[in-house]
Amino acid sequence: MLEAAIHDKCGVFGIFGHSKAAELAYFGLYALQHRGQESAGIVTCDKGRIHLNKGMGQVPEVFPDKDSIERLTGDIAIGHTRYSTTGASSLINIQPFLITNRNRSVAVAHNGNLTNSIELRAKLDAQGAIFQTTSDTEIILHLAAKSKKRKRIDQVCDALKTIKGAFSLVFLTEDSIIAARDSYGFRPLALGKYGRSWVVASETCAFDIIGAKYVRDVEPGEVLEITKRGLTSHFPLKKTNSAFCIFEYIYFSRPDSRVFGENVDKIRRRLGRQLAREHPVEADIVIGIPDSANTATLGFAEESGIKFEIGLIRNHYVGRTFIDPEQKIRDLDVKVKFNPVVGVLRGRRVVVVDDSIVRGTTSKKLVKMIREAGAKEVHFRVSSPPIISPCFFGIDMPTRKELIGANKSVAEIEKYLEVDSLRYLSLEGMLSMSALPDTTFCSSCFSGKYPIKVPKINGKERGHLANATVTKF
Ligand code: SF4
Repeated sequence: MLEAAIHDKCGVFGIFGHSKAAELAYFGLYALQHRGQESAGIVTCDKGRIHLNKGMGQVPEVFPDKDSIERLTGDIAIGHTRYSTTGASSLINIQPFLITNRNRSVAVAHNGNLTNSIELRAKLDAQGAIFQTTSDTEIILHLAAKSKKRKRIDQVCDALKTIKGAFSLVFLTEDSIIAARDSYGFRPLALGKYGRSWVVASETCAFDIIGAKYVRDVEPGEVLEITKRGLTSHFPLKKTNSAFCIFEYIYFSRPDSRVFGENVDKIRRRLGRQLAREHPVEADIVIGIPDSANTATLGFAEESGIKFEIGLIRNHYVGRTFIDPEQKIRDLDVKVKFNPVVGVLRGRRVVVVDDSIVRGTTSKKLVKMIREAGAKEVHFRVSSPPIISPCFFGIDMPTRKELIGANKSVAEIEKYLEVDSLRYLSLEGMLSMSALPDTTFCSSCFSGKYPIKVPKINGKERGHLANATVTKF
């Protein structure tokens, strides 16, 4: 994806029963950095004593030295990487959240988006709850604290029965980790083993980095309690059809991860192959938008027989760059991120593969850049269908008004991008790439059909704002 226009909200990690729990969580978060770059945090428990370190920035910025990890002693740890809107107000929303209730501590890290957060928050507020953050995740802690049950696991189960929407959660208690996934299984959550310790993570790439072995996925609707006695599965939630986020395969997850039981790399290659079958084109070379479209581009090249080339170089060292509106008009925002390889592109008929188009503004600039580098023809191929609807389940997306696929036909987008041809993968083609039945997946942002009732405000869909601050509405 060219634009940083779609963001997964978060990556979560948990480890139980290791003397170096914080260090391992640190590396786990490092591997999950692509799921959130705005803030990071780790909380540990050392025989009932809780330690927390969190802050704005990427994992190495929040944990810049050994000391920042070593003071997080204990053999239980959970961690979180978060994408959020920028600004000081975000400081209060950095996870994991930690509270003390009935003299015992509990912390939580969340990936997902609750769809009934406004109603629940208003209700809790009216009952006297004092919120410290503007995040929907805090609601879960309030609900658990209100439970009449004695055991923490039962309190968590009570809270989960009340919330709706997407959640892959990791809780830290003083003697356990609790990993939970909503009944639809929107967001991934995997269970692994590291020696005698148990680990959970949003993606298996977090296991690979520490040398942990993948065991299985936390099942949709499962609340998995990990204690020194081992694992106990609870299923307190109503059974539903699953709705695994198909976008995890297209863009969010790392290609080296195993997600929803399949290797992302394999699925992404199949998407590229299917794209080549559906929309063949005569060309000299095929290039991908680095890095997210690389794997699909390889699939396209394999299937079409068109030579794979590296036609764009991505600058991996771009952090926050101040770009004023005038510089944006001169395309500097794209130029700091990508540079064309003139020797590869000059005089060639080029197929450009991307995984998705969101607003289309950056794609347009990149096409211009490729043309200026001397490409004779530019054929744009997208390894997913047009995005026509916002996400309510944990992905931060522009509103429907800003989604080019919701407002223009393919022919109009083709004209807007100034390409020789533009083709998208079909919805059926995309869904057929997994061995799982089509009905297993959520593909709402491509179809506009949501698996659950989505929130409305003033009769309108709230879109990605459903996970934003309440005060924004
Ligand atoms: S709406 Fe799109 S991004 Fe959101 S969960 Fe469904 S497939 Fe994923």
